[in-house]
Amino acid sequence: MARVRVIGAGPAGTAAAISALQAGAEVDLFEKSRFPRHKVCGEFVSPEATEILEKFGVDWQSAKPAQLRRLMLCFGSRESVGLLPETAYGLSRYVLDALLLNRATGLGGVLHREPGVPCGSTVMATGRHSAAPKGARLFGFKAHFCGPSSDVMALYFQKGGAYVGVNAIEGGMTNVCGLAPEHELAKHSFEVDAYLDGIAPVRERLVGMKRRWNWIRVGPLVFENRFANSAKFTEYYAGDSLSFVDPFTGSGIYSALLTGRMAGRAAAEGESIAEYSNRCKWMLIGPRAVSNVLRVSIRLGIANWAERFIPHPWLFRLTRPRRSLSS
Ligand SMILES: Cc1cc2nc3c(=O)[nH]c(=O)nc-3n(C[C@H](O)[C@H](O)[C@H](O)COP(=O)(O)OP(=O)(O)OC[C@H]3O[C@@H](n4cnc5c(N)ncnc54)[C@H](O)[C@@H]3O)c2cc1C
Repeated sequence: MARVRVIGAGPAGTAAAISALQAGAEVDLFEKSRFPRHKVCGEFVSPEATEILEKFGVDWQSAKPAQLRRLMLCFGSRESVGLLPETAYGLSRYVLDALLLNRATGLGGVLHREPGVPCGSTVMATGRHSAAPKGARLFGFKAHFCGPSSDVMALYFQKGGAYVGVNAIEGGMTNVCGLAPEHELAKHSFEVDAYLDGIAPVRERLVGMKRRWNWIRVGPLVFENRFANSAKFTEYYAGDSLSFVDPFTGSGIYSALLTGRMAGRAAAEGESIAEYSNRCKWMLIGPRAVSNVLRVSIRLGIANWAERFIPHPWLFRLTRPRRSLSS
């Protein structure tokens, strides 16, 4: 029987563990952080991700995630609202990651609550890397609010690459999550409330809402693609540790589940690391390129103009891997 070691128990790591277990392998899963835990994330779960959760036998519906049917893009004072191509979901990482971890251990995966080191057939699902030059750094923040919620996934973009996402999650709560360059946050002494208060549409959206706990922050964030080095990989990389795309696409959890599932199966079945990495590369290359173009146009302040010509469902589909490429 194959023995697979998985390092990191976020969506990519638990997906790898579950798929390796489903393929008949024995799995050791290493996680260095306390679980369950809140994590800086928009908690927008792309519709395609729920298909993977179903295949894993994860009862995600029991958590009663919020249903998100519409997408609102806001550039300065211009807002445009459209239907999402399919219903998406708002589900906190506190709940989602715990559901996935419970499923992995329920299937027989052995959880080690300690940092893991690669050894033998190993899936690396350790998340993104954080090195970035001072001055050019982006920081993420998040908090849950109570108050009126809706089925709109609202994205408020700012020049310079900053954005704030507001969407409902389970339990009638609303997640407010964003990222901003450090020089913008520094203008407000790194106080997220003060920073958001300076963005009129966000300020208006948060009227009547009450923050439930202190902001949690993360950073610096680096959008990274490790495929240039993939020929040298000695482990199966999955999730953000393989490729971290701009979070405003809301496709990170889906990509993590997808590549995690592929990595777990590849490791259990002994597919070569080079072949596995190559399959991931071709699956992620398109969405990554589109996300990069969008990021540059947001930074230059021309996304507002370009967005009028691209229907929302196209934007949505072009920024995520195609389901058919994952098998
Ligand atoms: C501001 C922001 C907003 C986002 N919003 C969304 C969104 O709305 N929708 C969406 O789909 N995606 C979103 N994302 C992206 C999403 O959060 C990530 O793509 C996703 O978490 C990737 O999962 P992962 O398993 O690869 O990594 P992670 O979730 O980071 O998990 C990695 C795990 O590995 C553990 N670990 C690391 N090193 C070790 C070690 N040596 N030993 C043991 N354990 C280790 C860590 O403790 C961690 O638990 C957002 C990201 C950011 C920054």
